[in-house]
Amino acid sequence: MKICGKCGAHNDNSRQFCIDCSHRLGDKLTPEEEQKMHARFQKKLDKMGHQTDPLYVSPWDKVMGVISIIGALVCAVLFVMRLMTWRGFYDVGMGLLCFGLAAIEALVPRMIWALEQIRLGFLIGNADDAKPGDFFRISRKVTIVLLVVLGVLVLVKNLMYWR
Ligand SMILES: [Zn+2]
Repeated sequence: MKICGKCGAHNDNSRQFCIDCSHRLGDKLTPEEEQKMHARFQKKLDKMGHQTDPLYVSPWDKVMGVISIIGALVCAVLFVMRLMTWRGFYDVGMGLLCFGLAAIEALVPRMIWALEQIRLGFLIGNADDAKPGDFFRISRKVTIVLLVVLGVLVLVKNLMYWR
């Protein structure tokens, strides 16, 4: 393979001039160079594949996941403190549950999808072939936001009415 120095087009070894821009072509690529280029191309393709993968964990998901984990940790500490006084631990437990679920939704979508497939199995029978669609993707994002908001509300309420 020869690569045009002017426009970057891929040309057959037999060509003297670029098929796209007629620029004069140099030497053909060595096997190593060709391999390197192929690897780079493959990497780009993989990345594109990930971004259209409905179970892909986006940077936004990661941020929400980290927030949820921090929220869950705060709730866990409060939960233990509340257990000692035996008051209000039910609320903090709810917060812990919300943040925990949000973290799983955000960071391990594969697990949520597996659960969803079990649920679908009751509805449509053959759910193994089912692919997560837009509905799954959007409802997952909405669920994460709702759980985090709920968790934060529980935390705020609990800290405001600290007795
Ligand atoms: Zn060219």
